[in-house]
Amino acid sequence: MSILTYFSPHHALHNPPHEFMHGQFVPYFEMPSRIDYLRQGLETSGLVSIQEPLLQISKEALTSVHDPNMIAYLEMLSGNVTTILQKSFEMYRIESDENGYFYESSFPKRHYGSKTDKPDYYICDSTSPVGKDTWQAILYSANLAYCGALALLDGEKRVYTMCRPPGHHAGRDFAGGYCYLNNAAIATAQLLKLGKVAIVDVDYHHGNGTQDIFWDEPRVFFASLHADPAVDYPYYAGYPDETGGEGVSLVNVPLPHGTGETEYLSALKKVLMQLRDFQPDFLVISLGFDTYKDDPMARFQLDMSSYRRMGQMFNGLQLPTLYVQEGGYCIEKLGEMATAFFQGVLAE
Ligand SMILES: [Zn+2]
Repeated sequence: MSILTYFSPHHALHNPPHEFMHGQFVPYFEMPSRIDYLRQGLETSGLVSIQEPLLQISKEALTSVHDPNMIAYLEMLSGNVTTILQKSFEMYRIESDENGYFYESSFPKRHYGSKTDKPDYYICDSTSPVGKDTWQAILYSANLAYCGALALLDGEKRVYTMCRPPGHHAGRDFAGGYCYLNNAAIATAQLLKLGKVAIVDVDYHHGNGTQDIFWDEPRVFFASLHADPAVDYPYYAGYPDETGGEGVSLVNVPLPHGTGETEYLSALKKVLMQLRDFQPDFLVISLGFDTYKDDPMARFQLDMSSYRRMGQMFNGLQLPTLYVQEGGYCIEKLGEMATAFFQGVLAE
């Protein structure tokens, strides 16, 4: 038995050189080799059957969860970024090259007048730069999740989508935190055509974009286990008192720095009990591996055994399940983590 896995080489088209952190330029953490390591590790394990789906995603599938103006802005910016940068850099006498990336300002956005007149509204921080091929990369990433949902609707029991860029920080009308389109939410919107959906976000960071999109959707159960937003990205969201609109099942579980396997899995067990009560028809996992003990961006203490047990716990729910790749930055170990996780999924 192997897990149907969707992959696209287009992710490598998005390769920003650096990001700005604590007053310094550092190499961009969310880099193409993340997918290379995941793929190599899983291929070696023999646990997955990797396919490259054709581009099938429609504009309607994107606008089912995102503001159409945001979609138009991201596509326009990517297509015109070279010209935009040239104009801007001429003013400051800085040389630009054709592989340049547009970095959004980090000024707070305010709702003055029409958003469409102020397109910068749609990218909410400087961690999500846009280059000339970024649109292709994010579209193919969303396509993987979209095709994964179609496979579940066709009767497949488990699908893993190697999405990059990730998606869970992208909200209805904002990109941010390395994320542009919310892959898990786009898949969920398709699954909702045939039943109720539970989303569990196990990335180290709160799934603020997914929460934003389904805040008022009673057919979605959303739970996120993550670092305390008081001290970690995205800072403004992920607190336990954020429980969604009327009749909505939304659970936020912030955990302290240093959280290890026992505490983490015990919190996850409680969340899955609530999930069972919701009686979903489909399960979507926002699968981040930045909870690993040696992740350079994070402060949890999970190990390979933790991922194996998590895989077992999700599989134990006996639901058609889509696993959507989110973060994870201890790059050389990503293949090993994914292997441990899917060994757990396939363990009886
Ligand atoms: Zn993360």
